[in-house]
Amino acid sequence: MSAKIIDGKAIAEQMRTEIKTQAQELKSKHGITPGLAVVLVGEDPASQVYVRMKGKACAEAEFFSDEHKLPAETSEADLLELVAKLNADDKIHGILVQLPLPKRIDESKVLLAIDPAKDVDGFHPTNVGKMMVGQETFLPCTPHGVVQMLIRSGVEIPGKHVVIVGRSNIVGRPLMNMLSQKNDRANATVTCVHTRTRNMTEITRQADILIAAAGRPKMVTADMVKDGVVVIDVGVNRVDDPTAKRGYRLVGDVDFEAVKEKAAAISPVPGGVGPMTITMLLYNTITSVKTKLGIE
Ligand code: NAP
Repeated sequence: MSAKIIDGKAIAEQMRTEIKTQAQELKSKHGITPGLAVVLVGEDPASQVYVRMKGKACAEAEFFSDEHKLPAETSEADLLELVAKLNADDKIHGILVQLPLPKRIDESKVLLAIDPAKDVDGFHPTNVGKMMVGQETFLPCTPHGVVQMLIRSGVEIPGKHVVIVGRSNIVGRPLMNMLSQKNDRANATVTCVHTRTRNMTEITRQADILIAAAGRPKMVTADMVKDGVVVIDVGVNRVDDPTAKRGYRLVGDVDFEAVKEKAAAISPVPGGVGPMTITMLLYNTITSVKTKLGIE
């Protein structure tokens, strides 16, 4: 058996087309252009790439993109002042502060300063709390992207045993929460494994749906899954490859070639979860505008 490929790129493209149409409607009916502010402190190369990609995605969706590139030596006070300005700016519906921040800056203080109504990353404790109790809120982009990939690929979630590898605050933990909510798009039985888990393979082999978010290249091997499993690979790992133009290539947390022979469906890396994250950021920004206008 060779698995159906869950094509995150195609799903993301479809969603971005829907989002662009909604942005055009907001402009024509309400005279509002969704505005996303992205703040980058310092020159971390990976962060610069992400910020560039976000700017491009905004332009394609006909959003207003407001980029703030601040020097690495920016003080916490100056950053908080900028966040306060963006909170008060009516043209801005979403604020994203690119993480990680330089060590001198207290990340949690900055995230707490963002107006929860513009917290399109879904990291503000108010929004995390709302998600926890199943209230409408901005859901964090990567885990929400994973859920959308499952739903839009026609994977039945209710009643299934979902095993998540990893318990980080940005991926594993919110996924545990979202998929165990009491609603028709969730209702899963969720187990989360991590570095202190005993007999991990025994648990992963029970998974109907396995989500890997550990940041360990190819750690999920074929012997760790059962036949017919659905696999979503969140991992993005650089491995050396002298034959590649950049000297490295990206691989996921799943041994794709081996696992796809047992799985019913599987997402690749690249081209899986990656394109969904920015898509969900655009989705949350549109949601912010609609919430402000009081429309569905
Ligand atoms: P993280 O903060 O480092 O967390 C990794 C989690 O995996 C931890 O809970 C850790 O357990 C667990 N883990 C690590 N090695 C393990 C092992 N051998 N067995 C079992 N559990 C193990 O990472 P993250 O931020 O969640 O990211 C995870 C991966 O997703 C990374 O590759 C990252 O690049 C990728 N990612 C991709 C996107 C995207 O847009 N596609 C977005 C975010 C992240 P402990 O808690 O016990 O240490």
